[in-house]
Amino acid sequence: MPGMNKPALLAVLCCLLVSCAEFPFLQQPASTETETGTTTDTTEPEVTEPVAENQPTQSASETERAQVQTVPVGSRETIVKTPDSEVSEAQEETESPAEQASDPSADGLEQDPTSDEPEAQTAPEVDSAKLIEELCGQIGNKLTSVSVRECNDQDLIHAAFSHDGRSLAYRDYLPLPSRDSLGRVLVIGGIHGDEFSSVSVVFKWMNILNQFHSGLFHWRFIPAANPDGLLIADSQRQNTKGIDLNRNFPTADWNDLAEEYWIERTYRNPRRYPGESAMSEPEIQFLVEQIREFDPDIIISMHAPYHLVDYDGPPSAPNKVGGLYLRELGVYPGSLGNYFGVDKAKPIVTIELKSAGIMPTDREIDRMWTDLVRWLREQLPES
Ligand SMILES: [Zn+2]
Repeated sequence: MPGMNKPALLAVLCCLLVSCAEFPFLQQPASTETETGTTTDTTEPEVTEPVAENQPTQSASETERAQVQTVPVGSRETIVKTPDSEVSEAQEETESPAEQASDPSADGLEQDPTSDEPEAQTAPEVDSAKLIEELCGQIGNKLTSVSVRECNDQDLIHAAFSHDGRSLAYRDYLPLPSRDSLGRVLVIGGIHGDEFSSVSVVFKWMNILNQFHSGLFHWRFIPAANPDGLLIADSQRQNTKGIDLNRNFPTADWNDLAEEYWIERTYRNPRRYPGESAMSEPEIQFLVEQIREFDPDIIISMHAPYHLVDYDGPPSAPNKVGGLYLRELGVYPGSLGNYFGVDKAKPIVTIELKSAGIMPTDREIDRMWTDLVRWLREQLPES
């Protein structure tokens, strides 16, 4: 009996050990998964899209981003969480958007306590300066490369509200009265909220224009097209309704294909969710209105981290922008490239920076800018 029991006992002990050990081991991977959840999530489903080959680069740079962001994003820890910080992180998430969302509307509408959403858009007493100040305060705290002051110095103009009540803002650089404008160029950053560099680089280009605007083009800059996705504690690609804004444009194929594409090609990837109807999102309504009203000849749309230049529209695409080379990816139902490049048949350059969290060097930012301006001059020659 004792001879039989020993192995049996050992077995029982082992089982016990293993099953006890399961908890800490299981919990750790589980929390690690949430920790890098967005990152892993990004790489997987992207495979179903034509950019699949970039997967390794992307996952590499996204990991880099996760690491790097801990350092740069000083006051707000966005990406990296230690497993035990998950609870406080969750609290932070529910707290901070509400807090941030209520602020802007409260400022404009003190007399109307019930309205913290759509009414704010029509209210005449919106304090635009205050909204921009708040937006810049949050951007400056979020992005290492853009200071609060640098953002405020851009004299952004408040134009509409995001879903959570943040300012959707733009800045114009008018052509000089003394010379004819070659055309109108719209530059859009940060339509995906977790692509930090796509916002920062736009600010850097605005700094260049602040110094050297020659009046050659009429520029319009929208540095942060998805402020909620960018500025919530745990930044995300989609807006805070969970909708991928770059799948929500009212493209001709949206009703027929957007949902089908999402289900069959992305396997219902939440990061690619196009929404229930085209242009359902205030951020997209704003961008579509900007495109209608400003009527750009060319759009430059900033993304990361595929490390390439994508192009839609009539010829001819830039072969390279800085160190990024042309690689046409095609379009998706509801994407801006589809809306502007295909439906409107006008040129749109999509810049996919190398990393979402690591800024290109100043030299590379300058080179990209120079290449773009050179290309724009070729596309929009003096008549
Ligand atoms: Zn993107």
